[in-house]
Amino acid sequence: MTPLIPTSDPVPDLPPGLYIVATPIGNLGDLSPRAAATLAGVRLIAAEDSRVTAKLLAHIGVKVPMQAYHDHSADTLRPMLVARALREAVALVSDAGTPLISDPGFKLVRDARAAGVNIVTLPGPCAAVAALTLAGLPTDRFLFAGFLPAKAGARATAIAELAGIRATLVLYESGPRLGASLAALADGLGDRPAAVAREISKRFEECVTGSLSELAARYADAPPRGEIVITIGPPPEAAPADADTLDAALVAALDGGTLKTAVADVTKALGLPRATVYARALALKAGA
Ligand code: SAM
Repeated sequence: MTPLIPTSDPVPDLPPGLYIVATPIGNLGDLSPRAAATLAGVRLIAAEDSRVTAKLLAHIGVKVPMQAYHDHSADTLRPMLVARALREAVALVSDAGTPLISDPGFKLVRDARAAGVNIVTLPGPCAAVAALTLAGLPTDRFLFAGFLPAKAGARATAIAELAGIRATLVLYESGPRLGASLAALADGLGDRPAAVAREISKRFEECVTGSLSELAARYADAPPRGEIVITIGPPPEAAPADADTLDAALVAALDGGTLKTAVADVTKALGLPRATVYARALALKAGA
């Protein structure tokens, strides 16, 4: 492959500063010419994993010294990077996508800003934004919530905090945890429209849409491979069903149906969180 920046070409020196460089999330063709020229022109690259970034540099035919950097790196490392960025060009990259977005960099930018470093960002790929463009869900307001906690209790608490937010929600997830997370989201948020975007910009890119419970059922026993973003539509515009409507629907559903099917049917019909419907169904059964 022809390097984008032939090493024989002189690369103009960049002014001192910290250059935040977004890199591809799968398709190397998504590296912008400006990002490639910047990586070729800096004196040092702070990289999440230098082995990963070495492959990107090889692709563009560039050799620049690298320094492994995490926000939890030794306290001495950040001041060193800030000091260097005050007198020469230093780039920050993560393994893929936009640095600082579920990736290292926030503390470095914070400290560099406090020290008066010239900070330049080179916008580019970001899985959260790319997934929003695929999902067909409202994009006028969205909330990026990163990764949900792995443990069920903490995950349910995190989802409960998101339930009232009137915006499309964007979450990063892994294949093995996808089914359980979708089920927990259906429980905690109600059965909202959602999308699972997978392997964006790669050979097996796909975006599967459906309600949260449909998606949970689809992935329950078939964890997909690859990298995943979940997007979830905002809560319904209409006022949530009132207590009388909920009781009437539950009484009708419980008449001849099991608790489980009644809760599932009413959750779906009224778009309420399953936990709310379940608690009320238990109370009605107990004669409350
Ligand atoms: N900073 C990156 C960005 O700008 O998107 C995100 C880094 S985060 C550690 C990695 C997560 O992003 C993955 O676990 C996955 O949820 C999501 N992701 C990254 N690349 C992706 C892709 N090509 N398709 C779908 N999701 C992706």
